[in-house]
Formats: sequence, structure tokens, C-alpha cells
Amino acid sequence: MVVCLCSSGLRSGRVAQYLREGEFEAQRVLGGLPAWNELISKMGEASTEEENFEEQSFAAETNSAELKKMATEAKAALEKGEPTIFDMICSGTIPANVVYEDEKCLVFHDVAPQAKVHMLVIPKTSSKKGLSQLCKAQEGVHEEILGHLMVTAAKVARSEGLAEEGYRLVVNDGPLGCQSVYHLHIHILGGQQLSWPPGV
Ligand code: AMP
Repeated sequence: MVVCLCSSGLRSGRVAQYLREGEFEAQRVLGGLPAWNELISKMGEASTEEENFEEQSFAAETNSAELKKMATEAKAALEKGEPTIFDMICSGTIPANVVYEDEKCLVFHDVAPQAKVHMLVIPKTSSKKGLSQLCKAQEGVHEEILGHLMVTAAKVARSEGLAEEGYRLVVNDGPLGCQSVYHLHIHILGGQQLSWPPGV
């Protein structure tokens, strides 16, 4: 049995981790001051790591707060009935780097790619049928367009050379899902090894 005499849970965790990793044997830690001092000095390094971890967590929280604010603003714009940036791409008002187009949908490169390859599959305004976001999907109304978008995503992923090694499809929904454009879209991410979990 190993007892960690530490005031902080995190530190106790680190000590337990050192012990598990075999950096210290339980007998040495419990049996002698030099070993204990060695352990304390290791904990000093761990403490710096913890501070870095806390700073990173703070940065992540700040970033997440900004994302949430942007997402909430985008939703408010939708509720005012303003056309989305993707409606403007569909109407040709603003340009996009289009990869594929048919009568129902459009696929183009994301302006701020989050992977080596990052494309968006969107329904054209005429096929959107109120699908500002996935949670608006209704039985008997949206199966066809949603199926079409998924099949198109697979088709474009194949034609862009992503299918052999794999890729990821993402649909962000609502403020907590960090949706920033309220015009349904599927992200196609690939061209590199992706990590998991995807940012919780
Ligand atoms: P989401 O956050 O899931 O709503 O994703 C919206 C995506 O649209 C983001 O990845 C943006 O980078 C992307 N985006 C915004 N404006 C444009 C644009 N004009 N052309 C291409 N992608 C865009």
C-alpha cells in the first residue's frame, strides 16, 4: 500500500503516477529522507507542470467563452432573418473556393481550415427547407436533403483522395456545439491524422 502525504489532490495524483511509472519504489519513499527529498524535488517540477496546465486551462476557457459569444451572436442574426454568409455564397454575392456543385448542394473549402483538408458541404438556399441547424430536422421533410448531403460528402471525400486513409465529418449544432453559421453544413476534415476526443 502507498500513502501519499500531499495537500493537493493533483500532487497526490502526480506522486502516485511517479510510483506507478517506477521512478520511485514504495519502500524507498517510505523508508528514507533522501528518497523523500528526491520525491519533493520532483514534485516541484510537477507543480510547474500543474501551473502550466492551469494556464492552458484558463486559455481554453477564454477561447471557449469567445466561441460561445460568437455562436450566440450568429444565432441572434438568424432570428432577425438576415441571410447567412452561406446564402451569400449560394447566390454568388460573395466568392468561395468551390469543389463541387449540383442542383441541391455546394461543397467549398473552409476559409479558416482546421485540418490540412477542410471543406464544407451545404444545402443550397432553395434546398435548405429551414435547416439552419441539425436540430431543426423533421421526419418526412428533411431525410432527402440530409441523405443527399451525406452521400455528397462521401463522394467529394473520394474525389479529393481522402477516402483511402480516412477522414471525419462534423456537424456543430447551437451555441454549445460552437456553431457559428446558422445554415446547416457538414465539415469534411482530413488529409492528416486527426485526434480524439475532438475538443471537449
Ligand atoms: P461552424 O462553426 O460549424 O458553424 O462552421 C462554420 C464554418 O464556416 C467555419 O469553419 C468557418 O471558418 C467557415 N466559414 C465562414 N465564412 C466562410 C466563407 N466565407 N467561406 C468559407 N468558409 C467560411
